[in-house]
Amino acid sequence: MTSPWLQPDTLAVHAGREDLAGLGVHALPIDLSSTNPLPDIEAGGLSYEAMATGGRPTAEGGAVYARLWNPTVARFESALAQLEHTGAAVAFASGMAAMTAAILAATAEGRRHVLAVRPLYGGTDHLLATGLLGTETAYCTAEGVAAAIRPDTALVVLETPANPTLDLVDIRAVVEAAGPVPVLVDNTFATPVLQNPADFGAAMVLHSATKYLGGHGDVVAGVVACDESTAEALRRVRAVTGGLLHPLGAYLLHRGLATLPIRVRTQQEGARRVADWLATHPEVARVHHPGLAEDPRGLLGSQMRGPGAMIAVDLRGGYEAAQRVTSAVRLFTHAVSLGGVDSLVQHPAALTHRPVAPEARPAASLIRLSIGLEAPEDLMTDLDRALTVRTPERAEAIPA
Ligand SMILES: *Cc1c(COP(=O)(O)O)cnc(C)c1O
Repeated sequence: MTSPWLQPDTLAVHAGREDLAGLGVHALPIDLSSTNPLPDIEAGGLSYEAMATGGRPTAEGGAVYARLWNPTVARFESALAQLEHTGAAVAFASGMAAMTAAILAATAEGRRHVLAVRPLYGGTDHLLATGLLGTETAYCTAEGVAAAIRPDTALVVLETPANPTLDLVDIRAVVEAAGPVPVLVDNTFATPVLQNPADFGAAMVLHSATKYLGGHGDVVAGVVACDESTAEALRRVRAVTGGLLHPLGAYLLHRGLATLPIRVRTQQEGARRVADWLATHPEVARVHHPGLAEDPRGLLGSQMRGPGAMIAVDLRGGYEAAQRVTSAVRLFTHAVSLGGVDSLVQHPAALTHRPVAPEARPAASLIRLSIGLEAPEDLMTDLDRALTVRTPERAEAIPA
């Protein structure tokens, strides 16, 4: 199958930079204007109107005001849309601001029922469970979507690989089961390097750009890739609710896209080695990693181009072992978040998935690793020491 899109490695370097030579610059320009000079009332007003209803600024009227449009953000959006094989993308102040806008846009016409395929990121699960956005949420499995769809279902939300168990969900099967109902896929863990959910019919592809897209632990952002008409609905929500991505964040994200493919593939290679090794470790009950899991549908290879760089580990020693490991590691940082150049470890049940209802909360014995760009041998040495430490006192004695 030949794709109409350039390869991700090429898009990562060139997308959103098409006009730079014409502008006489080589690096991405940053526009920090909060407001923009207006040519005249009429042209400014028409451009305002176009953007307030979800469109783009007119050539005559310009951007008017930064809550409506920012060219640095729009440039990043254009790059991300190309990487995700969609017509458009809309960026937000965080992944949760993006999720909020996606839910509000999908339910704007009055249908209020949302189907959530568990497991999901704890914040998403929680946002839907609270009903804060006026939604009624039903939780189901991927196989249960067809039976759970109602006439008033506005949106199906899923994550693959799912957070934190790293289960793969068959996007095409859920899209078929959902029929006319749009499906949102949270693609944060896979990144556009490893998976393009829009190719399988997802109407919205969401990223917490805070994670792999940013990749350096210094940006909080979110983005939804989708077609232009969905983008209009999202921009309308963004314009009135104001969950904007700051242009400096957009600049950092766009700058970082160029190395996204090599970061993701190198991190993935390290994760593969660490996961294989952990699977043989006496302190480990089970390793969750798409590369080690059963995959009866053959999703790895057809839907996802590689297993990614996230690993979840069930520890034989349960919660106490999790406490020991997270405080004994030296190269891994004990911190939430993921996808950066440095390795992180965290305990989902206590942290990222704390707000999830008890019956759906991850096991207390589970820790989640985000593998960075360090040498896998060093990461394994660090984990081995942390896994075999018996007491907090011994952990303290380990040289950094
Ligand atoms: C972190 C995360 C989010 C939320 O993104 P923020 O940028 O923290 O608001 C959503 N989905 C997944 C899978 C995440 O890991």
